[in-house]
Amino acid sequence: MSRPRVAVLGLWHETNTYAPKPADMSAFKAFELVTGEDIRRHHDGDRSVVSGFLAATQLDPVPVFSAGAWPSGPAPAQTLAALLDQLTAAVAAAANEQPFDGVLLNLHGAMVAQGTPDVEAAAVERIRAVVGDIPLAAVLDLHANPSPRFVAACTVVLAYDTYPHVDMWERGYEAAQLLAQVINGRELSTVVAKTPLLTCPLAQSTETEPVRGLLARAKARAGAAGLARICLTLGFPFSDVDRAGVSVLVVTDTRQIDTARQVANETLADIEAHAADFTIDLPDAATAVRNALAAAAAPHAGRPIVLADVADNVGGGSPGDGTVLLAELIAQGARDAVVVIADAAVSRRAAQLGVGNTISAQVGAKADDRHGKPVPLTAEIITVTDGTYTTAGSWMTGQTFSMGTTAVLRSGGLRVVVTERPTPPFHREHLTSVGIDPATVPIIVAKGAVAWRSAFPDAVHAIEVATPGVCPVDVSTLPRTTTAIRVVA
Ligand SMILES: [Zn+2]
Repeated sequence: MSRPRVAVLGLWHETNTYAPKPADMSAFKAFELVTGEDIRRHHDGDRSVVSGFLAATQLDPVPVFSAGAWPSGPAPAQTLAALLDQLTAAVAAAANEQPFDGVLLNLHGAMVAQGTPDVEAAAVERIRAVVGDIPLAAVLDLHANPSPRFVAACTVVLAYDTYPHVDMWERGYEAAQLLAQVINGRELSTVVAKTPLLTCPLAQSTETEPVRGLLARAKARAGAAGLARICLTLGFPFSDVDRAGVSVLVVTDTRQIDTARQVANETLADIEAHAADFTIDLPDAATAVRNALAAAAAPHAGRPIVLADVADNVGGGSPGDGTVLLAELIAQGARDAVVVIADAAVSRRAAQLGVGNTISAQVGAKADDRHGKPVPLTAEIITVTDGTYTTAGSWMTGQTFSMGTTAVLRSGGLRVVVTERPTPPFHREHLTSVGIDPATVPIIVAKGAVAWRSAFPDAVHAIEVATPGVCPVDVSTLPRTTTAIRVVA
């Protein structure tokens, strides 16, 4: 018997509705916009969800369409329309050759476009309009905000179990296994429960409380009830949509659906009972820099000490050009520290001037007025690169990142890495590719909340800072026009 033919599709974007830069077509082209066999080549050897899909040997996974863009502001309406047209045209053409038995779908789960607040629901409904009522398994990011409408349109919905996300491939592979079982006759469906609790990513680490305990108890509950699978999505709070919040997804044999609902609701109650544990109190920039300088000056201080610029979180859609910690390091006379700032104009001008010359410029804080003020800097240009690196490490392994034209500027002992494009500090190559060994730097500013930890596993000390920006530690400081909904399964 031939293996079931399943379409592999993807549309991935984490949308910060407060971020200034839109996810336009150029952002997708720069990150991922591929069809057909190019998808296999694009993901060759990486640990992505799509690679997990393609590894399923009991299926015949057919790569059809995969698009993604780095987290940023919403996609323009015409960008979403073009992406969905391309996706559905590709599915229709492939289904025309030979009909599909199922669909594997890689989504983020928090994508918003102008005029379409629930892109995942819109996408799955467009796909269903082409392929009909066949089994469909979707994988979401742990930061997804899945709506009941979206979940109802899918057969199986899974989400990453880890933050930092080190299980993307495993979830893709698992979704393919479950899809194969459904195609072979197992009746599965997914239920969702939601709380409007908006939690800062800093409080969402799966290695620490409250999430570690919530996940363990959720799995114990689902296991005891004999349910297929339970996942928690901790939500993407910097999204002004009604589906924002923490969600519980339970995949269940359809005959056990009442039990699944009960377990989802018990888990929802557990999350709500621990709502206060997600509250985080952090020092401001002046206090944090003072503490970092004191720690770095202590006898036998290890290195690096990482100052986490939480609100300028590139992985959460921030512009990566926040200057508050840079300004404070200068003001407090820091003599040896590294700060990465996205500033295309300054990086290009430094490249033109060349290594060994001096540049005077206003650096950073140009994307909007939420991330500090431009910092006047006169510095020596010590390195210029094209900013490209391929990652090793445990996460997004083998992917190539491009920071664009990148210059390292030195002013006193302070090194400012100026990149053309904001790039998340998820991998040590982010610094080693420009000649900086993190282990030799006393103080590093990382623009992120949690995921930077995979880049600097040897960091001796992390100081998370309540900086201003579009990913603030206190989510309630962002204005909202919508009210997040509570959903009982
Ligand atoms: Zn995420």
